[in-house]
Amino acid sequence: MTAVVVVGAGPVGLTAALTLARRGVHVTVLEQGDKLATESRASTFHPPTLEMLADLGVLEPLLSQGIIASTFQYRERGGGEIATLDLSVLAADTAYPFRVQCEQSRLTPILLSALPAHVHVRFGSRVEGLYPNEDGVIVHTARGPVVADWVIGADGAHSAVRRALGAGFDGSTYPERFLVASVDEDLAAALPGIAPINYVFDPDEWLVLLRTPAHWRVLLPTPADTPDDDELARLPDRLAAVADLGRPWRLLHASLYQVHQRITESFRVGRVLLAGDAAHVNNPLGGMGMNSGIHDAVHLANALADVLDGGPESELDAIAARRRTVAIEHVQRTSHDNWERLRGHDASYHNHLSDLAADPAAARTYLRRACLLDSLENQR
Ligand SMILES: Cc1cc2nc3c(=O)[nH]c(=O)nc-3n(C[C@H](O)[C@H](O)[C@H](O)COP(=O)(O)OP(=O)(O)OC[C@H]3O[C@@H](n4cnc5c(N)ncnc54)[C@H](O)[C@@H]3O)c2cc1C
Repeated sequence: MTAVVVVGAGPVGLTAALTLARRGVHVTVLEQGDKLATESRASTFHPPTLEMLADLGVLEPLLSQGIIASTFQYRERGGGEIATLDLSVLAADTAYPFRVQCEQSRLTPILLSALPAHVHVRFGSRVEGLYPNEDGVIVHTARGPVVADWVIGADGAHSAVRRALGAGFDGSTYPERFLVASVDEDLAAALPGIAPINYVFDPDEWLVLLRTPAHWRVLLPTPADTPDDDELARLPDRLAAVADLGRPWRLLHASLYQVHQRITESFRVGRVLLAGDAAHVNNPLGGMGMNSGIHDAVHLANALADVLDGGPESELDAIAARRRTVAIEHVQRTSHDNWERLRGHDASYHNHLSDLAADPAAARTYLRRACLLDSLENQR
């Protein structure tokens, strides 16, 4: 018997487990993989996420591995800078007025090693079904059943927990795929004046250039229905069009993926909570998926710990409803707007961006929303 089973040892599940463990809750984490995932995914940590990680005692090791990005840029393809936004205008709002560039695969080992010894993390434990009863939930895994009072499903976009609940995942799939390429090139030297994070507007081929500790990443749109091999074959030419290095770019890794915007009906179903990608997904423009998932984990886990301490379940319901509203009104809306803007050519919007970069009060308002501080208003 364990008080809470967390399904999934991604950034969201491990944050939930650590939050609960620090509140004295008996937690077991069930992870289908034999080890933590290492694939290249989220790489941006926003200020409120840094605050939460500091509260959990895991910020220092992340900062020691990451790159502090005090600015990010909007640029025009072939044109140059539209606006540089400086996060230091948030100095009165947060102790961390910057973004940290660091792959999520560096955070998960930090979270794992911060878990107290009484937290059991069972790798190779794929969850296959859930059987709620009046005393709790029986979680079926490939290795046998685990009985819990509560379950947090943090098992990603294809969540087995969500499917076991029969819950929907309504929304849509974007009409283009995203291609992410990691390159062993110094793009700051090839494209002088760029920031560690750059959103480049273009109606034909928008792109994002992101610095990570080990290399630069380039994100490009790609047709939905072309063969992967064809897309990878034309990638060197596409990269050369971003910056002509006089030789092919040194490409380390490239992958293509479909992007969805979806959300489940409720983040609480009886004694089961859903958090992170298991509950909602969005496009990666603006770096909100992992960040909002970590916020889900902290808020839901603290609300659940309050219930286990004898608090009213109505508070947990309110937090679950609030996190769903945030996912729709902040995470999905902002990331979808980012996609619409990047693939358009709206000169008045570009003027608006350069005006607000020159006006600290306007920049602060804009950045509070862009980094999810507004989504946590009165919640921190
Ligand atoms: C290319 C790419 C770039 C991205 N960039 C950003 C970014 O810059 N910023 C940002 O905020 N977000 C970004 N995202 C989104 C971000 O990666 C996700 O939002 C984040 O990983 C969600 O974390 P999670 O813990 O909810 O799910 P996951 O990271 O998917 O973790 C789920 C875990 O559950 C395990 N699991 C799955 N099924 C089961 C099962 N049945 N039983 C047991 N365990 C199971 C998995 O093995 C995995 O370890 C990006 C995503 C992609 C694909």
